[in-house]
Amino acid sequence: MTATVHEVAAGVFACEQDDGPRIIRQVVIAGAEAALVVDTGLAGSPAEGILPLLERLGLPPVVLLTHPDGDHVAGTAEVLAAHPGTRLLAGAADLPLLGDPERAIRERYARFAADDDVPFTAAMAERARGRFGAPFPTPEAVPAGHAIELGGRRVTLLPTPGHSPGHTAAFVADDGVLAAADAAMGRAIHDRAGNGYIPPMYAPPAAYRETVGKVAALPVRTLLTGHEPVMDATGAARFLAESAAACTRLEALTGAALAEGPATLMTLCARVHTAYGGLPDDRVRDLALTVDGHLGDLVAAGRATVAPGPPRVFRMAP
Ligand SMILES: [Zn+2]
Repeated sequence: MTATVHEVAAGVFACEQDDGPRIIRQVVIAGAEAALVVDTGLAGSPAEGILPLLERLGLPPVVLLTHPDGDHVAGTAEVLAAHPGTRLLAGAADLPLLGDPERAIRERYARFAADDDVPFTAAMAERARGRFGAPFPTPEAVPAGHAIELGGRRVTLLPTPGHSPGHTAAFVADDGVLAAADAAMGRAIHDRAGNGYIPPMYAPPAAYRETVGKVAALPVRTLLTGHEPVMDATGAARFLAESAAACTRLEALTGAALAEGPATLMTLCARVHTAYGGLPDDRVRDLALTVDGHLGDLVAAGRATVAPGPPRVFRMAP
């Protein structure tokens, strides 16, 4: 694991490690009295970034978990072990899946295995378990008012639903720094070489679209996502426009996939995957959440119907 820590704005640090071909990033925002830690990475990540940095800064942490994916929360138990009693925060809608790896795996990773034909094998479950680290206590919901005082520095915690229902970002308005994690996902999450790696994953589409619009309206000068290079204002504007365009395109491709003929969710994901292009061959199932969301919109609009299954079969409305 190659790990780096760099100061991207005054008192704002990006801690990055390798996760297979891509990077994962945690953000530490230092005030005079405390530091806000945005995400804790994978097991082992804190020892390579957050923990030595907190020691160097001499600050106690407050932790924001942006959403319940292993690569963003698995280091939490390690941060708590080093700093017992640390305040843990997360968006209210994500609390049931945080700190409970088995439930997160069942409801987020294996979500389309029972009613649909999106496979979730024992090997996938084992890998997911390895990526979720040790359990930790349920965080408290992001406080009303959505602001955290760190001593001479105020951070706004912004609801940014889409990638998860309770996804929460941290905005340092005075410095124009947004720690966005996976609130917006561009055209794809990229590997270090800049190749598409994982498609945008969100539901429902309307929530994601609104979040992308909300983030685009913020005066962001430094955008720190979970997996992309650090962006300045120009790069952020381009990335957010790409995020919105990808959502529009995935909506159209889901409709086009359905127009090819009645199909299950996995078959529709395969059609969308081919048409979207630029993703690894083995990343078809990663489209399930997003395609399911767009299918849900088509059904709600009366443009498609769904037979219950399992597996469910979708078809264009007559
Ligand atoms: Zn992520």
